[in-house]
Amino acid sequence: MPTISTHNVSTLNNMSCKICKRSSCTESFHSLEAQEEWDRLYGDLQGMDESQLQEIVVELRYELEEARKDMEELESEIEGLHEDAAGEDI
Ligand SMILES: [Zn+2]
Repeated sequence: MPTISTHNVSTLNNMSCKICKRSSCTESFHSLEAQEEWDRLYGDLQGMDESQLQEIVVELRYELEEARKDMEELESEIEGLHEDAAGEDI
């Protein structure tokens, strides 16, 4: 069953291209910029053990939830603006 698995992160290197995760690809097929960007984003994760990765997943879920709330607030603000605009006689 496909879930967010920290196991996948640690085995990516041997399995397939670490950047796009395709087995028919390798990271050297990507531009140097893409490789550097990958290292910047995920390089730190490589040395981590499962419990450290699990902590990051929990942290990210929390941040995601916060971002979702922010978005809902913005959406209702935008809705409010639309209603204001609709109520005005121009
Ligand atoms: Zn690739």
